[in-house]
Amino acid sequence: MKPKTIIEPFKIKSVEPIRFTTREEREKFLKDAGYNPFLIHADDVLIDLLTDSGTSAMSAKQWAGIMDGDESYAGSKSFYHFESVVRSITGMKYIIPTHQGRAAEKILFTIVGGPGKYIPNNTHFDTTRANVEFSGAEAVDLLNEVGKHPEIRADFKGNMDIEKLEAFIKEKGVENIPLCMITVTNNSGGGQPVSMQNIRETKEVCKKYNIPLFLDACRFAENAYFIKLREKGYEDKTPLEIAQEMFSYADGATMSAKKDALVNIGGFLALNDEQLAMNSRNMLIVTEGFPTYGGLAGRDLEAVAQGLLEIMDEHYLQYRIKSVEYLGEKLLAAGVPIIEPPGGHAIYIDAKRFLPNIPPEQYPGQSVVCELYLEGGVRAVEIGSVMFGKYDKNGKFIPSMMELVRLAIPRRVYTQSHIDYLIEVIVEVYKKRNNLKGYKITYEAPMLRHFTARFEPI
Ligand SMILES: *Cc1c(COP(=O)(O)O)cnc(C)c1O
Repeated sequence: MKPKTIIEPFKIKSVEPIRFTTREEREKFLKDAGYNPFLIHADDVLIDLLTDSGTSAMSAKQWAGIMDGDESYAGSKSFYHFESVVRSITGMKYIIPTHQGRAAEKILFTIVGGPGKYIPNNTHFDTTRANVEFSGAEAVDLLNEVGKHPEIRADFKGNMDIEKLEAFIKEKGVENIPLCMITVTNNSGGGQPVSMQNIRETKEVCKKYNIPLFLDACRFAENAYFIKLREKGYEDKTPLEIAQEMFSYADGATMSAKKDALVNIGGFLALNDEQLAMNSRNMLIVTEGFPTYGGLAGRDLEAVAQGLLEIMDEHYLQYRIKSVEYLGEKLLAAGVPIIEPPGGHAIYIDAKRFLPNIPPEQYPGQSVVCELYLEGGVRAVEIGSVMFGKYDKNGKFIPSMMELVRLAIPRRVYTQSHIDYLIEVIVEVYKKRNNLKGYKITYEAPMLRHFTARFEPI
């Protein structure tokens, strides 16, 4: 038989209780947190979809690796294990461990960035943009047109706009573009995948102008599985083979192991260029640690190595992609507007269509996020004008391109009944949408304001 039900491809050995609260309690918690879910105590959250980063459940084998970690300061055997696994997937020569993805970004852009420089990307993730801009360089998103329309269904909405990329290189000058980046999958644009053809074509343009291509590889395995499902010629390839081909077009990669390496902390910078690798290792020693541990414990390196093997298991990837799709399709069936089709690691509610009466300057996404918490103890995150909104020179508000609410699904953590409960909560909030109010910001930090901002309902 060919089963229709896709089951969790694991059984549960160790459990962690979740805490139920009353609506009255949640009203107080939310107010105390300045209406910013980042500031709510995790213990007061029932279903936590704030992020899929560092929230994975590790396997028994990963925990065994934790015990087996070699904590030698230099030359730890855990480093060589980690290095060989990362190398077998990426094919890169120099593998530099970092404590998480942004540490790799910080090192890379400190070296290649700086004033007058431009970094093109399909869509920069917030920390990537922050690290590019912190160096003085400009981060430019060149997403394919179809990726900007939440309601359009297409297979590869994370694709780079190749024509725009070439025009951009000609306009800004090759000497001002130290590298080009592709984010797989496109986290900020709905977890949408990038096709192999698009990676190949981006590489061709980069090669023509002698610009190195880097992958922001946080969700490389989910991207590989979408290629297998949707791109002709890849049906019979394994996720590993597809990932290897993706990396074969890149000259380097940054990775947050907190995503597709199924660990709670870790990351790496992978490079082919020897000089860049030497400069990066020198920076690493100043900011992270010695090159064979780079801000991690030996045990963390073991857990990453094992996680990278597990993530490419086809049963895991099928369950992963299908369970996110299950959530998305159920919401669509209830009329809730989301980015279509469902992405790899998350469902993105389109708050512009959910709350058409709340303008961007009153943060409709934040309003949905607050109501999901009040209604059902669900924690989600706004990815819209709170995260990406700006002010021009005269202090005029410039909204984000999209107003989204991200429901990121931690890996191997929640079961289908958790997801069914979540659907109930979201549909209930959708029914009450005409009663929802906008928000105003009462405090904001100069960079990455969404983490610490405080709000008040209007
Ligand atoms: C999470 C993430 C990062 C940053 O990684 P951290 O481990 O959180 O520092 C960079 N890019 C993308 C696409 C991400 O999803």
